[in-house]
Amino acid sequence: MFQEKISEFVQKYRNSYISYWKDFHRHPEPSHKEIRTSGKVAEILEGLGIEVKKQVGGTGVIGLLKGDSNGPTVALRADMDALQIKEETGCEFASVNDGVMHACGHDSHTAMLLGAAHVLSELKGHVKGNIKFIFQPAEEDSPVGGAPGMIKDGALENPKVEAIFGIHMWPTLETGVMGIKEGVMSAASDRLNMSVRGKSTHAATPEFGIDAIVITSQVISALQTVISRNVSPLDSAVITFGKIEGGSRYNIVADQVDLDGTVRTFDPNTRKLVAEKISQIAKGTASSMGGDCIVDYKWGYPPTMNDHQATKIAKEAIVKTVGKNGLYEISMPNPGGEDFAFFSEKVPAAFAWLGCRPKGIPPEEFPKLHNNKFLPDEEALPIGVTYLCQVALTALEALSK
Ligand SMILES: [Zn+2]
Ligand SMILES: [Zn+2]
Repeated sequence: MFQEKISEFVQKYRNSYISYWKDFHRHPEPSHKEIRTSGKVAEILEGLGIEVKKQVGGTGVIGLLKGDSNGPTVALRADMDALQIKEETGCEFASVNDGVMHACGHDSHTAMLLGAAHVLSELKGHVKGNIKFIFQPAEEDSPVGGAPGMIKDGALENPKVEAIFGIHMWPTLETGVMGIKEGVMSAASDRLNMSVRGKSTHAATPEFGIDAIVITSQVISALQTVISRNVSPLDSAVITFGKIEGGSRYNIVADQVDLDGTVRTFDPNTRKLVAEKISQIAKGTASSMGGDCIVDYKWGYPPTMNDHQATKIAKEAIVKTVGKNGLYEISMPNPGGEDFAFFSEKVPAAFAWLGCRPKGIPPEEFPKLHNNKFLPDEEALPIGVTYLCQVALTALEALSK
């Protein structure tokens, strides 16, 4: 019964959410500056008679739809921020804010969640419990993100959220396909700054100094053993230094080398272990050579973890939305970070990928996320709205048993 009602209302409100999407796309705002966007979101939710909380964790907005009968609370989350990229899509609703662009599809995430709010408001009489709509700022602001601020401001309390669901436009998947897996969906993404310290002296008399460049070369090699000797061959991790800077002149022994890098892991225990080992090995190696190493490990986004039961619910909703053939079982998690992860640390969560590559275009020819030509297929939006409604109602049903 729900299935038919949902498709009817997804069709009925199509013009509304498609126009929200184009409007948000035309007026992108970077992380923490989602003022116009969050204002529109609050206005639309209020127009639907939904209880609204503004300025949650900065520019975040929360809508609470109370069903006609009591029951658990489930949350649906969308992100609202754009990127500092100059748009080259050439579309008719291209960005009017020079150098800012919705290149990660967050405009469509926001529009689809508003679409779901329209549809679910119509179905209020059948909603057994509450549905919280979480519109978060600053997903792109790694390593801090926008989710922690909203959680701190009580986004998951009053009423207490028992499960949370989110989707992301996924350009490698064709429209009509949705991807998900249980367990880790995206990597933990941390930042690593190190400074190796020595003592300068004349290049011809190294015995009077401590060469920070020679120490650094040993430290870098030694750190690769963290991956090969400390991380299980069945797990994986990456340590990459993308920038290294040191020394002052060709004939002076360098007294300082600064390194800037990133660490990616998929398992929370591996993440802790890698951070500890990096510090131990870098400091130990430097001190064994008479120098020192200052390690600044900045914890970024944790891995997004899809909970067992929440994933089961999400898969059921995917099948109801796109059929069995549309369900893509992901084998490898995404090595990129996603700050939905912070929600997944607090409550059972499931994050899914929404195919948005128009049929007939090969994956290698379709622009990827963060590309200045990325624009999702419009046909993916009604599918996303349908899924969000399905997953909320399926979850309320499952959790009240
Ligand atoms: Zn992004
Ligand atoms: Zn994104």
